[in-house]
Amino acid sequence: MAPASGTPGARSQVPLVDYLALEPEPHLVAHQCTQCGAHFFDRRNACASCSGTGFRDVDVATTGEVTAFTIVSLAAPGIPVPFVAAVVDCDGTTVKGNVINTPPDPDHVKVGMKVRLATQVVGTDRAGTDAIGFGFEPLEGARP
Ligand SMILES: [Zn+2]
Repeated sequence: MAPASGTPGARSQVPLVDYLALEPEPHLVAHQCTQCGAHFFDRRNACASCSGTGFRDVDVATTGEVTAFTIVSLAAPGIPVPFVAAVVDCDGTTVKGNVINTPPDPDHVKVGMKVRLATQVVGTDRAGTDAIGFGFEPLEGARP
C-alpha cells in the first residue's frame, strides 16, 4: 500500500501561484491551446492567438534562457530590493520570474544566460504552512 501523503506533523507547503506544481519535482504547468498550441499561465476562456476554447495542461521545461531582465531597485515596503525581474524562454514558453540565488547586478545577470527553475519559501502562516514561490537561478555557478 502506498503511504498516505500529508503525514501528520510534517510541514506542509503550498505553491504561491497555481501554475507552480511541487510534485514530483517543482515545475510550471501551462494551459496549452489544443487548436494552435499557444501557452498561457492564467486561466483563459479563449485563446488570445486563435480564439480556440480547448486547453490542456502541459509541463513547462524547467531550464531556459534569460531573454530580458531589469534590476528593480524600488518596490513596495517589505519587498527587499534590489532584485532581478526577468523574462525567461523555457523551451518556447515565455515565463516571467525573478532571477534568484545570484547577486542582482549586471555582472551576474546577462541576457542569454542559462537558468533553471528554483523554488523558495516566501512566507509561512501561523499553522506552519510554507508558501512556495519560484524564480530562476543561474545554471552555471549555481549552488549545488
Ligand atoms: Zn490557440
